[in-house]
Amino acid sequence: MNSKRAFKLLKEIGFTRFGGSAEELEAAKILVRECESVGIKAEIEEFSVNSEAIANAELIADGVSYKVEGYGNSGNTPDEGLTAPFYYLENGEDVHKQRANGKIVLVNGYVGLVIYKKIVESGAVGFISFAGNVIDTERNSDLERKELRQPLKDIKILPGVNLRAVDAMRLVKQNPKEVTIKLKQEEFTVNSRNVVAKIPGEIDEAVVFTAHYDSVHFSKGVYDNGAGSVINMEVLKYFAANKPRRNLIFIWCGSEERGLLGSKAYCNAHKEELEKIKLCINVDVAAPVLGKELIMVTADESLKHAVEYMAKEVGYATNVTWDIYSSDSIPFADNGVPGINIARFGVPGTSHIHTRNDTMFFLSEPALKITADFVEQFAIRYVNSFTFPVPRTIPKEIKEKVDKYLGREVNKA
Ligand SMILES: [Zn+2]
Repeated sequence: MNSKRAFKLLKEIGFTRFGGSAEELEAAKILVRECESVGIKAEIEEFSVNSEAIANAELIADGVSYKVEGYGNSGNTPDEGLTAPFYYLENGEDVHKQRANGKIVLVNGYVGLVIYKKIVESGAVGFISFAGNVIDTERNSDLERKELRQPLKDIKILPGVNLRAVDAMRLVKQNPKEVTIKLKQEEFTVNSRNVVAKIPGEIDEAVVFTAHYDSVHFSKGVYDNGAGSVINMEVLKYFAANKPRRNLIFIWCGSEERGLLGSKAYCNAHKEELEKIKLCINVDVAAPVLGKELIMVTADESLKHAVEYMAKEVGYATNVTWDIYSSDSIPFADNGVPGINIARFGVPGTSHIHTRNDTMFFLSEPALKITADFVEQFAIRYVNSFTFPVPRTIPKEIKEKVDKYLGREVNKA
């Protein structure tokens, strides 16, 4: 484990790499070059993602104009805009839902499947979301760009806009009778891509390593997740020099931030290969100076205990939970491949994902090395184990969580 080399690579890929962008491709090429520098062939596997060009997005509340970003792929309003009464739906509780029919609603926080379903069920005709912190200003923050993801589009397409938290507060205080949303955009598809490298082993079983290398808009994505990307690159370099017992597949996933699109695309394109995969080792977020180590075991519960024991044996201070993790191990678990997620989380207030403040300033090489060393030790032990110790099953409790995460109705019977 050469943490100096890893940290240098992290700096090199530390530019905004939004899924499907030219910058994401540039980072993919750097990752290919790194694999090939140690004699391992790497390929870029493309997949199609939605994109858009927003020509205009406006929010006018009783004549007052707010700075907004339009939701990508949420369609177009008529030229004169969509005007409706305003309602603050909060988190979409039933009582609120009764009052939202025919209105444009403001909701709290990130618009995921659960809240979006409630918006649609309430009969709202458009929606407004907000992001960030109420102490953000126009100078020290970016207005986050959002998109209506495919699972949400599949329910119903409503026009949406996003604003800063401080403006959401201003809007609720203003309590306008009516608001108008104007949205004009062109929608099309582009290619995003995974970087895939394989190292052959000695027996017909495989272990997959995943780390997403894309970022959100405006973020340099070094903590999330350039750090995980360079950790897995070090693991590849170890096994390039030390032949593994099992076949290894390294995937640097694109468009994770847009809904795990790269790992989903990989699983769909390589169904026949998945049966041979014993475990997915996923690294997502690492390297904050002030932080703590976390492991989420998305596998048989016995692995949680084994990892806890191993961490103590090798002197790695971590917190192990038996859970799913919102990252690229999910599509693998959904296809029956157990997973382990290894991460170093920043202390709240000291590291900043998904903003312009996810920069190298908050990270350090020693902090990166803490996680990287354990990932490597764990990988060596499990990749080279005589019989693979982790059963290739997804326990019922974990499967239910995966289904819920992916927006499926969970059958409790
Ligand atoms: Zn991430």
